[in-house]
Amino acid sequence: MNTERVLTGIRPTGLLHIGNYFGATRNFLRMQADFDCYVFVADWHSLTTHPDTAELQNGVRRVLAENIACGLDPEKVTLYIQSDIPEIAELYLYLNMMAYKGELEKTTTFKEKVRQHPDNVNAGLLTYPVLQAADILIHRAGKVPVGKDQEQHLEMARNFAQRFNFRYGNGETILPEPAAFNYDGGELVKILSLNGEGKMSKSENEMNTLYLADTDEMIRKKLMKAKTDQGPETGHAPKPDYIQNLFTLLKLVSTPDVLNHFEDQFNQSSAGNCVIRYGDLKKQLAQDMISFITPIRQKAEEILANRDYLSGIMRHGKEKARASADETLQLVRKAIGVTYY
Ligand code: ATP
Ligand code: MG
Repeated sequence: MNTERVLTGIRPTGLLHIGNYFGATRNFLRMQADFDCYVFVADWHSLTTHPDTAELQNGVRRVLAENIACGLDPEKVTLYIQSDIPEIAELYLYLNMMAYKGELEKTTTFKEKVRQHPDNVNAGLLTYPVLQAADILIHRAGKVPVGKDQEQHLEMARNFAQRFNFRYGNGETILPEPAAFNYDGGELVKILSLNGEGKMSKSENEMNTLYLADTDEMIRKKLMKAKTDQGPETGHAPKPDYIQNLFTLLKLVSTPDVLNHFEDQFNQSSAGNCVIRYGDLKKQLAQDMISFITPIRQKAEEILANRDYLSGIMRHGKEKARASADETLQLVRKAIGVTYY
């Protein structure tokens, strides 16, 4: 195993869907075999936009259970809850002294959040990228898998690390600058919602998103309602994006034979000669999707039912993560000079 550290966080704000699985989780599963991985549940981050904590207990347990059910191995990765590591908050405080109001206000995600939550533009929202930098730098992680929307935040984390080293490092790199991480050129999959409007999402468009917690009937129902049309006008026609999305899903959960079968039928179809029957495609896709989701759902339910097991994992993760965080914080305190005896 490469000893390089990779870090990633998940907000406990809703049920995982197959977009999360194929867009993100699947990569963590691969990373855990190759790197020293830190994966945390970002409960502090969720407070910036979800101040009501009634669902937090369940949300944290569920997101842990679902990730473990997907194959994340708590023995291989350091899996922990953000709020269990007070060292992150202390580093956040130091980094806040190096983050400027102007640059924080300019952040794209901040401006977006201000639009979405005009009644709750709290300082936590403004300093979200600083907390995120603390999450990464506290373990001196070198690599962070990020989507397009997070690139700016990573750039800020690099800037804060650089400023810290410049001001307090005395020629040394106390906080290494993290780089974005992607597997081999990173073919990023994006799963659209089943009505073709936007992407599948934890918090929007629920009837058009396939959740890892969905029952067999629910999966079938959602897929049978998925948007299609009359079929292609000409042979080998380009696919509209909502049709392409169904083929993408087939590619992800069905056998190559099944995929080829429907690809051929699509290519042979034209106006007045529609060989492909989208009803059949959806039925097959539903069956294969059920085979994919059911074991994950059942495993997650099993894990959730075992409170002690999950608590044990959180405790174990906390211990490992705090050891690493404490090491960094000692260096940071010493560098700043807040050590008096
Ligand atoms: P929310 O609606 O709360 O923003 P979300 O479904 O967008 O939730 P995030 O927590 O924002 O999920 O994202 C977690 C990870 O899943 C990110 O790496 C993101 O790029 C990926 N992801 C989210 N939705 C999709 C999707 N539809 N297809 C592919 N990847 C996705
Ligand atoms: Mg999102």
